Amino acid sequence: MIIRNHERIHADEENLCKKCISELEDLYSYLELSREELDLLDMPRRSFTVHFPVQLDSGKTKMFLGYRVQYNDARGPAKGGIRFHPELTLDDVRDLAFLMTLKCAVVNIPFGGSKGGVVVNPKELSRHELERLTRSYIRAISDYIGPYKDIPAPDVYTDEKIMAWILDEYERIKGEHTPAVVTGKPIELGGSKGRNYSTSLGGILVLEEALKKRSIRKQEVNIAIQGFGNVGENAARILHERGYKVIAVSDSKGGIIAEGGLDIPAVMKHKEQSGSVVDFAGSKNITNDELLTSDCDILIPAALSEQLNEKNAADVKAKIVLELANAPTTIEADNVFSDKKIMLIPDILANAGGVVVSYFEWSQNLNNDYWEEDKVLEKLEKIMVTSFNDVHALCQEENCSMRTAAYQLAVKRILYAERLRGNL
Ligand code: NAD
Repeated sequence: MIIRNHERIHADEENLCKKCISELEDLYSYLELSREELDLLDMPRRSFTVHFPVQLDSGKTKMFLGYRVQYNDARGPAKGGIRFHPELTLDDVRDLAFLMTLKCAVVNIPFGGSKGGVVVNPKELSRHELERLTRSYIRAISDYIGPYKDIPAPDVYTDEKIMAWILDEYERIKGEHTPAVVTGKPIELGGSKGRNYSTSLGGILVLEEALKKRSIRKQEVNIAIQGFGNVGENAARILHERGYKVIAVSDSKGGIIAEGGLDIPAVMKHKEQSGSVVDFAGSKNITNDELLTSDCDILIPAALSEQLNEKNAADVKAKIVLELANAPTTIEADNVFSDKKIMLIPDILANAGGVVVSYFEWSQNLNNDYWEEDKVLEKLEKIMVTSFNDVHALCQEENCSMRTAAYQLAVKRILYAERLRGNL
């Protein structure tokens, strides 16, 4: 354990990133980080807690709690989403900011990592209350965000409508147009073409590289996808359009399987009409657990975290796991997959397509030069393919898992930037 190997004394033990420490512990034997390097990485650079008032429709004012954590910005302005969730904690925000830092570094885009959010159940607010909450939160953190400081984006329970309010509030405060302060905006306000399906497409581009490495042809594979929201549904659609056979999909109500392959456009229509993929004609209903252990070659978790764990890992039959969700695999399951020689393409690489197109959005805003979809997709492909090959090469060289290789590459890049700045 790093802490045992390196006696460290922090002025602010409270602020240590526990996830970061545990991930770095795993990397220790590969990277041999020095004490200075560890100290620099295991705490966020800046961490804000804000309390702000929101007027409710009843006329009463209620105080809310919000966070913003800028984990590291050695490689560029911090970049990370805003989450509205009733159980959000500063620890969660810090862990997610650390992951964002690694994600931006592994795909080599010029951003650091951050995350933020408000402790709230947005479903309990009216549209006007949600807007006032968003604006009040932005007023509370407005001095600390900006196109060259820290750039928010959507995350759980926040969407492009909320990004539009963020943009408007920030521009009112600054008194000038500043579209690059936030990404994931509606196209009419400076959003990028291709952004809404970029996470899924980015994942499929790396998956196709993985298939090439294993000499697997697309006609040979059966694919199962957990989650049929923005990421899962777009992944199913794109895979289907590219001629892959998707045999199983699921949502929070359950899953469906058809060994001959699902007609994904028809499943999408069925979900739109009925609210779920369940009971789709010509398929068999299954549970989410059955989907994860189904007889597929490629498994794509695209819903929640910790879905692949010590209870089901041994029963997973897939040869490749593509982590489109954030943190869908526990450490225990990771170890089982390594033993079974299952290729796991880690979240910080597999789902980085969204932040890559956010980078394009920011760049288009700063240059006031808007790209056609073809250009966005071509540039996305180049970055995703290069990143996959960088990680894969390191994984071969070091004889380690793809996750370890991805973390290693990201950490090396961040430390190199710190060194160039004279911070190490
Ligand atoms: P979403 O809310 O649009 O969709 C989530 C889907 O998961 C829904 O279909 C929901 O029914 C399903 N689901 C919920 N509980 C489930 C359960 N117990 N079993 C199976 N399915 C369940 O969210 P999203 O934007 O598609 O994000 C999915 C995952 O991808 C999350 O982990 C998110 O953090 C990650 N991610 C998203 C993006 C992005 O650009 N949207 C980028 C990076 C990572």
